[in-house]
Amino acid sequence: MDIFSSVGRLHLESHKDLEQAKKLTVLDETKVTKVYLPAVAPNGTDANVLVKAGDHVLVGTRVIERKDFYVPIYSPVSGVVVGIESINHPNIGHPVKHLVIASDGKGEKLPNALKTIDPAKATKDELCLAIKEAGITGLGGAGFPTFIKYTGVKNIDYILLNGAECEPYLTTDYLAMQLYTSEMLQGAELLRLASGAKEVVIAFKVHKEAVKEALDEHIGRFPLIRYVEVPDVYPMGWEKFLIKQIFNRTYDKLPSQAAIIVNNVQTAIAVKRALIDGDVISHRLVSVNGDGVMHPGNILVPIGTPASLIIEALGGYSTEEVYLLPGGPMTAKAAEDDTFPIQAPMGGLTVLKGRFYPDEPCLRCGACTAVCPAFIQPVEIQIALEHKDEERMTQLNVSKCVECGLCAFVCPSKIEVSENMKRAKRYLKFVATRNAVKK
Ligand code: SF4
Ligand code: SF4
Repeated sequence: MDIFSSVGRLHLESHKDLEQAKKLTVLDETKVTKVYLPAVAPNGTDANVLVKAGDHVLVGTRVIERKDFYVPIYSPVSGVVVGIESINHPNIGHPVKHLVIASDGKGEKLPNALKTIDPAKATKDELCLAIKEAGITGLGGAGFPTFIKYTGVKNIDYILLNGAECEPYLTTDYLAMQLYTSEMLQGAELLRLASGAKEVVIAFKVHKEAVKEALDEHIGRFPLIRYVEVPDVYPMGWEKFLIKQIFNRTYDKLPSQAAIIVNNVQTAIAVKRALIDGDVISHRLVSVNGDGVMHPGNILVPIGTPASLIIEALGGYSTEEVYLLPGGPMTAKAAEDDTFPIQAPMGGLTVLKGRFYPDEPCLRCGACTAVCPAFIQPVEIQIALEHKDEERMTQLNVSKCVECGLCAFVCPSKIEVSENMKRAKRYLKFVATRNAVKK
């Protein structure tokens, strides 16, 4: 921890070696013999599996469809469907059904998997529909279906492309903005057209000279797109923070209330590839970083590749005891093992040498409250959770917690404060469902 910039903002040691981050390893696809795609929505509810064991698939064959929102999922490889297997899902916290596809390593594409579009002629509705059919979900971590942000929106002023990537260790946005600059700008323009916004603003943190250089080379062709640099504090990538910082606007629930739509920079790249090239999301950049992996770096892998294979490709673990986090160290929780596959919104694997800190009692020091960007009182919520006092948890606005992890980061007693916030939210949901059933 370095300095408190102000309440709710903290400058963190970034652990980002920007020179190393520019080097990309491409995983040898012949080594990926099987890919695993969760046949569930992010909340664990079942999705429809559209193929059966023995079916031949190509990159772009529609294989799963989520039931909660309309989100088609396409095969990232060519090969043969093996069947369904139960595998650990690190975000859900227990094993769930995964569709298993044996890859032939050829990456053969299904011709016309997606209908391409002429942006000069397409209407807003046609652009939204194309984004929906492409099954694009946010690639910045949340995995929310992109089309929902655009469907039926009116009076949007700005599209904000979020490249702030504020968690330590993660650098895939940084790399993607340099490698695929022109594609990102084309995707940004498509998103602007789909919303009717007057401008696109691309945000990234200061001292990213390579990104500025890449953008300066291409941005002249896009008169309605500009970029801004934002301070290097955490959680600057949280959209509420970013919107306040750049536009001095606030909102209650959704950025659209402030006439803004926020997307990750890599989502814009996926939109360009889907709508202009007809390509589904089949691969993803992953930052593998931390002192627990031999050769940290960024790697391009097919979606569904097991974490174990990715770590092996980067030289393996540096020690026997490691914590493997599917994401950044501030928000991800250590996975039980490395069998889980990479999913589209998962941009990082943080691998840290095992450190065991036993919980000490709460000191009532107030550090967690002082740092909370949502201005809630984590320490009081923890106490209410211990007493299962749902009224108090509601009064204390636990629902406003954005799960940024700062409270746990500053806690001198090493208490998993942000995990307790998640538990409190889950508890309130459980109580609400139980009460609804009773009625
Ligand atoms: S995890 Fe929640 S309670 Fe903790 S600092 Fe972040 S917003 Fe506040
Ligand atoms: S930071 Fe930790 S020790 Fe301090 S009040 Fe919060 S939970 Fe307790």
